[in-house]
Amino acid sequence: MSDDSLDKLRCLIEDLDAALLKLLNQRASVSTEIGKLKVKSGLSIYDHRREASIFKYLAEQNQGPLNNQEINRIFSEIISVSRRLQSNIAGNDSGIEMRPATENGTGTLIGHTSVYCILGNPIAHSMSPMMHNAAFRLLDMDAIYVPFEVQDLQGAVAGIKALGIKGASVTHPFKREIFAFIDKIDDTAEKIGAVNTLVYGTEGLRGTNTDWVGAVRCLEALLPIQDHKFVVIGAGGAARAVVFGITSKGGEVVIVNRSEEKGRSLAKEFDCTFVSLSEIESAHGDCLVNTTPIGMYPKEDKMPVPERVLGAFKAVADVIYNPLETMLLRKAEAAGCMVAGGLEMFVFQGGEQFRIWTGKEPPVEFMRNLVLERLTKP
Ligand code: NAP
Repeated sequence: MSDDSLDKLRCLIEDLDAALLKLLNQRASVSTEIGKLKVKSGLSIYDHRREASIFKYLAEQNQGPLNNQEINRIFSEIISVSRRLQSNIAGNDSGIEMRPATENGTGTLIGHTSVYCILGNPIAHSMSPMMHNAAFRLLDMDAIYVPFEVQDLQGAVAGIKALGIKGASVTHPFKREIFAFIDKIDDTAEKIGAVNTLVYGTEGLRGTNTDWVGAVRCLEALLPIQDHKFVVIGAGGAARAVVFGITSKGGEVVIVNRSEEKGRSLAKEFDCTFVSLSEIESAHGDCLVNTTPIGMYPKEDKMPVPERVLGAFKAVADVIYNPLETMLLRKAEAAGCMVAGGLEMFVFQGGEQFRIWTGKEPPVEFMRNLVLERLTKP
């Protein structure tokens, strides 16, 4: 292509960007007016039905070449900015949860509302309640998801059954401890050695694991798993889900861990090789995956491996999603690697839970944007 035709196309893009900019600002002005009217009339800023109808309308209008998922991704961002503008008028800076926490997808809690929950300790930091409740609201579902800071796990599990709670997420530190209290553990959770999802039905309380689904989605965004080699740092719960995901999709794994005994034992279980963390230089592969908490908020200035080893990898992934970009990922990007953070893993494990519990397609783009918005809020 000649420089001349490239310049012409770039001019066209600039004209289109200018037109888009004007339209976006016009839309923001109209949205602000709507916000003022809502405040005056005492209406809630967040209107899930209206947002759902916008996405439906866009899907009907869309003539491509962008597909509906791509359009949803762009408009989720536009709508989330509008929501924030309206929230500022209302004097609430969250922009997300403008409705009482007791409201479910259909507006009121009633006798047959489906209840879901998360068991963990601590739990206040969890993004799962916001993510699942917003998805219920978006899909107009008569369902609610509640966080429980558990002091007595056996009692909590008995409570799930006694109260007819339909499903639960299980998080730190109970992913393994829960094995002792449930009726059935599926093969995946058994192999991973951790349960992050409970389903209560006629078969009793069944434990499964969706973390590995999230891990696979996150890694596949970087490179195909099959026939590639992954150096996994860590041998805890997250590592087990990651290693299960990689090996079940035909990838090869080298486990690198601080504690040799734990690392070797995991490597033996999944038929992989083991390298001690102090010998990280001798671990070679296509993609490095951090599954340790090193670099997580508030210790964001730490990284699990020395910077000098990063350039040897095509890609680097981190399961940490707070911060969205860890120091490991920043340094890896600077060393020329493709990078992926833990947000995708978190959202897709949650999306898979949503699918298992409700039988519905999870609105993952919408869930992702909410979490992203919350994590990037100053
Ligand atoms: P875990 O079971 O406690 O395992 C932690 C692993 O990290 C262990 O192998 C441990 O090594 C290693 N480690 C910890 N501190 C270390 C240090 N200072 N130096 C070297 N190695 C160290 O924890 P986990 O449940 O796997 O969680 C790990 C991280 O994954 C957390 O940040 C969690 O938030 C994140 N996570 C993210 C998602 C997601 O959806 N994105 C899902 C699950 C977990 P030793 O064996 O030597 O102790």
